[in-house]
Amino acid sequence: MNTQEFPENPYLLLTPGPLSTSKTVKATMLRDWCTWDDDYNQNIVEEIRRKLEKLATSQFEQYTSVLMQGSGTFAVESVIGSVIPSYGKVLIVANGAYGSRIIRITQMLHINHVPYIVAETSIPSIDEIEKILADDTQITHIAVVHCETTTGILNPVEQICRLAKKYNKISIVDAMSSFGGVSLDVAESNIDFLISSSNKCIQGVPGFGFIIARTTEIEKCESQARSHSLDLYDQWITMQNGKGKWRFTSPTHVVRAFMQALQELEEEGGVKSREKRYADNQRTLVNGMRELGFETLLPDNLQSTIITSFISPASPDYSFTKFYELLKSKGFIIYPGKVAQSDTFRIGNIGEIFPHDIEQLVQAINEIKYW
Ligand SMILES: *Cc1c(COP(=O)(O)O)cnc(C)c1O
Repeated sequence: MNTQEFPENPYLLLTPGPLSTSKTVKATMLRDWCTWDDDYNQNIVEEIRRKLEKLATSQFEQYTSVLMQGSGTFAVESVIGSVIPSYGKVLIVANGAYGSRIIRITQMLHINHVPYIVAETSIPSIDEIEKILADDTQITHIAVVHCETTTGILNPVEQICRLAKKYNKISIVDAMSSFGGVSLDVAESNIDFLISSSNKCIQGVPGFGFIIARTTEIEKCESQARSHSLDLYDQWITMQNGKGKWRFTSPTHVVRAFMQALQELEEEGGVKSREKRYADNQRTLVNGMRELGFETLLPDNLQSTIITSFISPASPDYSFTKFYELLKSKGFIIYPGKVAQSDTFRIGNIGEIFPHDIEQLVQAINEIKYW
């Protein structure tokens, strides 16, 4: 195949990842890297780790980072399975599929846990959480999702982690779909472990997750892991001592592309600028969709700028599959709903997507409205 003839993307991905990436991010994957050479370990992996720590907090000296092969869930499982000791117990705040996934992971790993389950369209109550913490002194950790991608709701992680600190608990935040796209300082927010992945708001391609950890906490996690390949401590200490060395084969091309994505985030003006672009996308989307008669699942005050759930049209002629196929033929990929209680579909704003793309999407939806 002639490399000049690689096809353009036939459509934009308006999904919560993998998402549409820039040509320059994709272009960096056209060369190969040696996994133990300094060109890769020192100049790429270590560079990425330092950039991630600085992106996560202004108090970066107190934090470290670990890259972990696999999709985001692998990184979540590595944290849950490595950070909670055998005598530990974790309070899991869940208002969607990703909170439920953490519950599932603790069940599979036989970790003592207390689920606090809230409706998918509500945010958890801080008072309820405080009551649980006050009553159950065996709890050692709290896990919560920042942006619940199930609906697009933004959970009050700062308030929850402040409570964690007040009651002397370790906090674990799944910020998979928000890190890099929503401002959050892990130190100021009292977060001990934050998890995200390569293919969300940093706008890289899929292949690894990463963990921002308070150094004094990850240091305590030696020999706690319930899985060898997902041993967070072992992966971390290998990267620390080996200066960017991974334990097993790393996704070299994906990692190189991620460094380019981080550079493009800087060029865009950092998280604040990216957050503003996503907010512009989201506002353009919701305004346009409301003009076409669509309703959002969530009220505006609970809604993140990452992804929006819309109520499916009530007409019996409507089917998601047909809607999806027609939009795809016009160059847009949207996402099915994931909410149990209502029939919805979702549209993401993250990735190499700009307000003019969203305007074209709304126009395309108007043109194909067949129901
Ligand atoms: C994307 C995502 C994950 C990880 O999903 P993978 O399919 O394993 O990459 C976890 N939590 C949230 C909130 C997410 O949005």
